[in-house]
Amino acid sequence: MVMKPLTADQIRSSIVNASADEIARMHLPGLHEVVWEERELLGWRDPQGSQRGYIVQWVGDQPVGILLRADSNSLRSGIGAMCSLCHTPQPATQVLMFSAARGGESGREGNSVATYICADLACSIMIRIFPGQSEMLLMRDELVARRSAGLRMRAGRFTDRILETA
Ligand SMILES: [Zn+2]
Repeated sequence: MVMKPLTADQIRSSIVNASADEIARMHLPGLHEVVWEERELLGWRDPQGSQRGYIVQWVGDQPVGILLRADSNSLRSGIGAMCSLCHTPQPATQVLMFSAARGGESGREGNSVATYICADLACSIMIRIFPGQSEMLLMRDELVARRSAGLRMRAGRFTDRILETA
């Protein structure tokens, strides 16, 4: 139930809420470095200070990709924050408000969905990090499986909201 590998062409054609021009300008991650069996979704940011980021996940046998824009106002530092997808508690500076246009007509009319997500969109990596020496390491596989299921469910709901046309 983890990610099937994606090709660059599949990723470009999976984006449901961007113009052809935005898709052409998209920066892709190094796909040969991705450990697909440890990914619930593929998430990455455009480089060089761009506000853009992307998440792609499989919905049935179809990859669905979403273009996101980070809000330039980050949360007040010093407070705790939590990513709405992976539920990892983090310092506020590592979580950003992202908004995503809805797909199709609805998005072209300006409808979008906004939520807090890990700033680097690397939720699949976050849920596999444990503090060293922790007792949690004994239950690592079980905890990762539980976190993975939660991440897949919440990311799936987010994608559903983007795809909602009503
Ligand atoms: Zn996250």
